Amino acid sequence: MSEAMVDSHVTRSGFDRKTIVDAVQRAVGTPNGILGLHEPVFAGNEIAYLEECIKSTFVSSVGPFVDRFERMLEGVTGAKRAVAVVNGTAALHACFVLAGVEPDDEVISPALTFIATTNAIAYCGAIPHFVDSSLETLGMDARALAARLDAIAQKTATGTINRETGRRIAAIAPMHTFGHPVELDEIAALAKDWNIALVEDAAESLGSTYKGHAVGSQARLAALSFNGNKIVTTGGGGAILTNDEELGRRAKHLTTTAKLPHKWAFVHDEIGFNYRLPNLNAALGCAQLEQLDGFLASKRKLAAAYQRAFAGVPGVRFSHEPKDTTSNYWLNAILLDEENAGSRDDVLAALNDAGFGARPAWTLMHKLPMFAQSPRGDLSTAEAIEHRLINLPSSASIRAHDE
Ligand SMILES: *Cc1c(COP(=O)(O)O)cnc(C)c1O
Repeated sequence: MSEAMVDSHVTRSGFDRKTIVDAVQRAVGTPNGILGLHEPVFAGNEIAYLEECIKSTFVSSVGPFVDRFERMLEGVTGAKRAVAVVNGTAALHACFVLAGVEPDDEVISPALTFIATTNAIAYCGAIPHFVDSSLETLGMDARALAARLDAIAQKTATGTINRETGRRIAAIAPMHTFGHPVELDEIAALAKDWNIALVEDAAESLGSTYKGHAVGSQARLAALSFNGNKIVTTGGGGAILTNDEELGRRAKHLTTTAKLPHKWAFVHDEIGFNYRLPNLNAALGCAQLEQLDGFLASKRKLAAAYQRAFAGVPGVRFSHEPKDTTSNYWLNAILLDEENAGSRDDVLAALNDAGFGARPAWTLMHKLPMFAQSPRGDLSTAEAIEHRLINLPSSASIRAHDE
């Protein structure tokens, strides 16, 4: 092999990190500085609402923007009840508590996810139990879930247990990775068959649809995030979505210190959480939600541009929305072919050198010291995705170059 060939990393199939940089350039142009992975856009009523909020003096835990934000979320998602909370991790924690997850239970979740899904399980004193992901959806693989349940689960009078550990399996928690919805019907059917609660981590997927319905709209319990890097932001924030009125009432109660309504008395009827979203953050959220349709349109155009740019590029494919879904394309992703997995860091370096804030996938949960002992099924697809995935700049402000 000549020096030049080693240097440009051209493989026999024609894979080359330069062709990847060129494809990204075709999609978004040449950046002026660094094009971040996901930056917020404040182009609406943000300053007006924040000013209104500050002038009202209601900046903290109660105020009209919180109610308005919750009603807007119900409008956008179609869920019966939205309860705004301080962040997506808190939303997940509350969802697991509401689903009845207790200490020493197990919760089935993907190994390929952001730490928040797994931490929220641990906050309940429960143990995450990892199952594999799908190359198509990048989320929990319904067939892997079915196989794992068949291998280890057993129905008993007190619930479904893991025969190998003796622990109750209290919930199944899929996550809609980068906005791509999981195979929800199949996963919900398995949860129902095994009589296990379903909690959706929809933190990344506000605005995505599954078979024509907004993700989270059909859920008994789903969690959203409005962190600064998500499709809409409240600075920090999250929400619980539910289609069950009673659960919605419980969600509000549990996340607002479980205080009984009274003119002056401080009576709390259980150990609640101070997880309420401040009015100040909700004001920002109202202004952001007004722009959601525009953000989605812009992000879908950008995804289409990446998809066109990567069509025919050897050794790599663009991760498009799964069938029967529309993705919000929160983060665009490419997957290197198996034989090019070893070049991932070189591709990341080349993209970052060219000004594209590209990032790898998260480290898989079972490789982190806190969860190294957690039970798991086969995770070979998650491991392949971890080595082959690259996220590309995806902000709603990025104009597709080839429009
Ligand atoms: C962003 C995110 C969350 C919630 O994160 P917060 O920063 O606490 O709002 C949860 N799960 C996933 C998969 C996420 O990407």
